[in-house]
Amino acid sequence: MPPPTLRGRSKTGLSVFWPQRKSFSREKAQKSQREMISVAEAIQIIRQQTAQLPSERVRIEHALGRVLAEDVVADTDLPPFDRAQMDGYAVRAQDVKEAPVRLRIVGESAAGRGWHHQLEEGQAVRIMTGAPVPAGADSVQQVELTHELKDGTVVELLEPVDLGKSIVQRGAEIKAGEVVLRAGTTINAAMMAVLAAFGYAQFDVFRKPRVAVLATGTELVAVDQKPGQDQIRDSNNYSISAYAELAGAVVERMPLTGDETSLLKKQLAEAAKRCDLIVTSGGVSMGVYDVTKAALKELDAESFFERVALRPGKPTVFARLPNGTLVFGLPGNPVSVSVTFNLFARTALLTMQGATEPASKRETAVLARSVKGTVDRESYLPAQLTTNDDAELVAFPLKWGGSSDFVAFALTTALVIVPANVKAIEAGSLVSVLRLS
Ligand code: AMP
Ligand code: MG
Repeated sequence: MPPPTLRGRSKTGLSVFWPQRKSFSREKAQKSQREMISVAEAIQIIRQQTAQLPSERVRIEHALGRVLAEDVVADTDLPPFDRAQMDGYAVRAQDVKEAPVRLRIVGESAAGRGWHHQLEEGQAVRIMTGAPVPAGADSVQQVELTHELKDGTVVELLEPVDLGKSIVQRGAEIKAGEVVLRAGTTINAAMMAVLAAFGYAQFDVFRKPRVAVLATGTELVAVDQKPGQDQIRDSNNYSISAYAELAGAVVERMPLTGDETSLLKKQLAEAAKRCDLIVTSGGVSMGVYDVTKAALKELDAESFFERVALRPGKPTVFARLPNGTLVFGLPGNPVSVSVTFNLFARTALLTMQGATEPASKRETAVLARSVKGTVDRESYLPAQLTTNDDAELVAFPLKWGGSSDFVAFALTTALVIVPANVKAIEAGSLVSVLRLS
């Protein structure tokens, strides 16, 4: 991304510049982080290792949010005929040059019920919005500038009308044969109108990824349980499921597995039978009970990465089971889960669905409060986006208690990205932000 230009002080009083960064000492920055890969490298690996799912045919009623597996081609011109844009009178502009003038009303053209004759000199046709303009007419004068006389057989036009006024020419919007939506597009509500208008009653989209969520941790109890001593409720499975559904997946929840390698292995193998992707949480750090990597290894999974230069979310694991099912082992902290899911698992889900839109959209915002960076790791810090009176995007980093603070994180709408080895970014600087869905 090219650095934004120097803009001096903005009207908000925040001085806007890029970059204003203090660096860590060289020595501190060079501390060995051998197998750690960057976020960009991790995303590249995910794209390379994720196969597109096959397409399937859906009816238009079920297509919202799906990714098109075929181009959508216009089967008609739009509009399909010269169309009136206003209620009024279809006329020949040259007949109205000397307005006020009176013309004989010879017919009526309504939407769906046109007047299909030749309009001659001195004639007018009463016309409604959306109706076809009769042959011979070249302009529509709006009804407000006219009035009818003699029981509706004559109309007086009070003003001249410009040639072509209030007519949308046939094919002015789209010509038959044009591609109107490309394969790889995620269908939104407005696109439903496009599909319907061109007769796409059913069409090909990529299959929805099937995702299993699987939470590890002896401390976890289900949402409908009262946590006992040393216990907490599992919340990750719910946020992961929600993010996965937002990314177009169908989700299956696996039972809680505790921290037992054998149980985890069993659940992973079970989930792999039905799913394209498994997302686990917890158990990927270096503690005695961090069993996820061991379970994957015992299942002969191919590991692509196990540490990413990221805060929060360093111990993220990406692997593939022998049957082809991909696995993300996300760290247990709920905030790490949200960050790593959106950076990594969402990328895989969109790649599976052949989506051309990037999984994470980066924008530039003015930083409202200074933030701290990390040695050797990129930081993704929770923030809220707003705009100020100068229509600038502003990121307010949230005060939060770290990667376990999911209550603060619930207010997050974006992540502020602090590059690795940047010690701090001052308020007023321009920063990259990643909008969360
Ligand atoms: P771990 O990555 O397993 O060391 O877990 C890190 C932290 O996240 C611990 O405080 C866990 O209790 C917490 N945690 C792990 N899994 C979940 C979960 N499913 N829901 C809520 N918190 C969790
Ligand atoms: Mg754990």
